Amino acid sequence: MVNPFRAIQLHQEAGSTVAELRTLDDSELPDGDVDIAVEYSTINYKDGLAITGRFPVVRHWPMVPGIDLAGTVTASRSPRFQPGDRVLANGYGLGDSHWGGLAQRARVRSEWLIPLPAAFSTRQAMAIGTAGYTAMLCVLALEHQGLAPGQGPVLVTGAAGGVGSVAIMLLARLGHEVVASTGRLDEEGFLRSLGAARVIDRATLAAPPAEMLGAETWAAVVDTVGSATLANACAAIKYRGAVAACGLAQGLDFPTSVLPYILRNVTLCGIDSVMAPYALRLQAWTRLARDLDVARLDTATQLRPLDEAIAAAPEILAGRVRGRLVIDVNA
Ligand code: NDP
Repeated sequence: MVNPFRAIQLHQEAGSTVAELRTLDDSELPDGDVDIAVEYSTINYKDGLAITGRFPVVRHWPMVPGIDLAGTVTASRSPRFQPGDRVLANGYGLGDSHWGGLAQRARVRSEWLIPLPAAFSTRQAMAIGTAGYTAMLCVLALEHQGLAPGQGPVLVTGAAGGVGSVAIMLLARLGHEVVASTGRLDEEGFLRSLGAARVIDRATLAAPPAEMLGAETWAAVVDTVGSATLANACAAIKYRGAVAACGLAQGLDFPTSVLPYILRNVTLCGIDSVMAPYALRLQAWTRLARDLDVARLDTATQLRPLDEAIAAAPEILAGRVRGRLVIDVNA
């Protein structure tokens, strides 16, 4: 091997996904015009699905998972980046159709790369990662619908997870009264430390709505879990309020009616981080640099070495990861 590096690699064996820590070589890297020495990656819910094979998110084999990466450019065939530039990337097929960030090296397309905002180290950028950037996309979508502080409580579901915990931090810093919905009531202290004004038991939202419209309760909702929880949230949004729906941790189904939308003018904003336009990504990262309390982010982040990434995958799918999980690919 000329230039070996360590990576998590996924392959298929008798129809099942097998994940291994392997030594690969630069010559095996996929096509791309920028080479990166990766410093940190993350474990998001989608990485959990890819590594365990529980849902068919991987489109090519073998695959290096990791939908996020941050590091330093080592070689560039693009005029946009020079060796030494610090960069990050989220989504765009990283870790499902193009080798991703759970490796010491990556080769990607320059149009996927965001210059690292000066406010963040590469570790902090990955503490945000896809989950935090998606939380910001949710906040931007709600603001676009007119959400402003003082309109009433904003519900965040899946609160102790990655998207949820960053959404709480952002909304609280922006002056909103945040209500955190969680299945882990023992995390109430943690959720309050992030800025939640109140914590509710997710069981209160988990069954399909008994009524198609409930009391007008929430000015807005950031929903990471889908299913009956999303339906209940929509049924209890105030007149002209909005919900940003990004996740499916409870399920893919959505047992709702048209009533919240046609009687209360509620807006359901779908959020996709993977193929979000570049200008919107830049806006999200600029707002994260302005609106996220980095000290709070550090309290919601765990750091693990690359060889623990595989074991972390079932943990995140079981909803046992608190906040964000950053992987130091060189440890
Ligand atoms: P996490 O696993 O970190 O958080 C998910 C949280 O959902 C858990 O921590 C738990 O929170 C809650 N949860 C888990 N299982 C259930 C259940 N059965 N019923 C209700 N709540 C449950 O994942 P992420 O924050 O990384 O991602 C959250 C969701 O958002 C995922 O579905 C992911 O696929 C999606 N996502 C979508 C993106 C997009 O582009 N649309 C981008 C990023 C994420 P608690 O313990 O507090 O109840």
